[in-house]
Amino acid sequence: MQDRVLLISDLHLEEQRQDITEAFTQFLEVNRGKCSALYILGDLFEVWVGDDVESPLTTRVADSLRKFYKSGSSIYLMHGNRDFLIGESYAVQCGITLVQEYFSLEVQNLEILLLHGDSLCTDDVDYQQFRTMVRDNQWQTEFLKKPIEERVAYASAAREQSRAAAKTKSTEIMDVNQTAVKTLFNSTQHKYVIHGHTHRPAIHDISLKQDCSSETIGKRIVLGDWDKAIWFVEIQNGKIELRTLPFPQQPSR
Ligand code: MN
Repeated sequence: MQDRVLLISDLHLEEQRQDITEAFTQFLEVNRGKCSALYILGDLFEVWVGDDVESPLTTRVADSLRKFYKSGSSIYLMHGNRDFLIGESYAVQCGITLVQEYFSLEVQNLEILLLHGDSLCTDDVDYQQFRTMVRDNQWQTEFLKKPIEERVAYASAAREQSRAAAKTKSTEIMDVNQTAVKTLFNSTQHKYVIHGHTHRPAIHDISLKQDCSSETIGKRIVLGDWDKAIWFVEIQNGKIELRTLPFPQQPSR
């Protein structure tokens, strides 16, 4: 297997967006057997209220991921703010390994720190409070005990509230906080950070002051969401590239 690593995030798969599911399954098909590992950095699904809630979508995605995994590529999944309830049972069904942020990826002599990205949006105080609550183990255990209808209703109310709040928040508030980024780089040995969440694909240079005389440049690489195009990071021959592709032609039915 060639030493090629792919990273994606923020597909926000949902029943209403068959085009994204189609693009994703084709992406897996094209890269099957052609990469050593695939990292999914959160928000694979638009919503996830428990592994016990199955649908044609969850089955199709699991089948595609499993086929990919069976061809010899490892798949790692980190939770996002939408799908943080994906559990071991679905992971096993897909052939994926769940990993916690912050995850250190060491590949091709590169040391890269992986995270979803929402933890860097510290200006969004309301959201950070919500995050602390729902990422709590006890909260999750209690939530997963509730009837499915109740969980679905809670999730759609939360999404509605977040959509409404997003309209009143400035774009700066919704983006990463620069101090949080600096703190992250200062607290880690990693020169590269890859995350998603903000839906603002870009490569940002970060100046890392070693001492008074020397300065090195770190990079913060932000994955794009899959609303209108495919976005991924490809690591090959010691190089990290942020790439985008148009959605494939929809098969005629
Ligand atoms: Mn997100």
